[in-house]
Amino acid sequence: MGGFAPVSVQSMTVTRTSDVEATLQQIYDLAMAGADIVRCTCNDIAAAEGLAEIVPRSPVPIVADVHNQHRMALAALEAGVHCLRLNPGNIKKPEHIKTVAAEARDRNVPIRIGVNGGSLHPDLYKKYGDMVTPEAMVESALQEIGYFSEVGFDLIKISVKASNVPLMIDAYRQLAEITDHPLHLGVTEAGPPPSGLIKSTAGIATLLAEGIGDTIRYSLTADPVQEAKAGRQLLEAMGLRERKNVDLIACPSCGRAEIDVVAVAEEAMEAFADKKIPLQVAVMGCVVNGPGEARDADLGIAAGRGRGHLFVKGKNVEVVKEDEMVESLVSWAEIIQAEGAEAALERVDTKLAEREALLDREQLLKEQGSDVNEVEQKLGAIRNQRA
Ligand code: SF4
Repeated sequence: MGGFAPVSVQSMTVTRTSDVEATLQQIYDLAMAGADIVRCTCNDIAAAEGLAEIVPRSPVPIVADVHNQHRMALAALEAGVHCLRLNPGNIKKPEHIKTVAAEARDRNVPIRIGVNGGSLHPDLYKKYGDMVTPEAMVESALQEIGYFSEVGFDLIKISVKASNVPLMIDAYRQLAEITDHPLHLGVTEAGPPPSGLIKSTAGIATLLAEGIGDTIRYSLTADPVQEAKAGRQLLEAMGLRERKNVDLIACPSCGRAEIDVVAVAEEAMEAFADKKIPLQVAVMGCVVNGPGEARDADLGIAAGRGRGHLFVKGKNVEVVKEDEMVESLVSWAEIIQAEGAEAALERVDTKLAEREALLDREQLLKEQGSDVNEVEQKLGAIRNQRA
């Protein structure tokens, strides 16, 4: 993490850590969904004992989340975790913090200083006028770094999360100015989707676009698998990680749509969910404009008069029944993944498929006219306003 390493995705289990099998199952689900690192709470001795069994069987590094009791941090280190997360607002005694840091130093285990706006150290809260400010959060992290350096420990990651997006962005910007330690980004307690997704993306993506951040976590009130997927998708969308799964694009639908675009796009999302096919796939509502609008997609389908027109790299390849659209999208995607787009195109008579698409297109234009969205009428009304 940090330096030239790719930005990583984190999530957190919601099982009891002492329930080893349930926690491992969730860790595997999260790893499958795109998590590179998973955090588990270590809130009692039973949880620490669970970690001792979980860590050797986990497919990804495990971070122990420790609140309040520094002894739980020491127990998690005994369990062999790959990283600790300490909240400076919860473990407050300097001697406790230094004891944990010294032990982590001896074991070469990193610690994330996880400052949280909602549980800021009371002294700092007071110092900054009974308010959570970016400066207060940064000072909290610096204080903790100070304790760590007293025992010669600097294997550090830092987060300064808040549920308020501008506050969190400001705190990370200030932190990035003064430290080179890897930063873990997140909007804490972002809430359920879709607002939780929007808030998290606003905060995390803004910072990533500025080159700030080494690892990210979406904190959603939802199945943690959704957090891992969202994190992964954000990094792929920003070009920060190689695509692992389908990037499904779909037209917004309009007066020309020949199918329920939302329903077909959802069906396609479901069909591709576990396929791990890193292609851009388009679902377009009509063959009049669809193939042109999605010509850059690896593969797509456009509806027309009860049929689906499949296209690969903008070239028509096949005509299928409307209720077979998603099924054939998946099989063409598998062919492209196995053989490449050029080889897939060589399998079929693209001229024939193109002729069929043209026929449906012309027929639709004849039936619907060239201005199905009544743009001319609207333009006329707008111009009348000016007159
Ligand atoms: S013109 Fe066709 S492809 Fe474009 S938005 Fe309308 S239905 Fe979708």
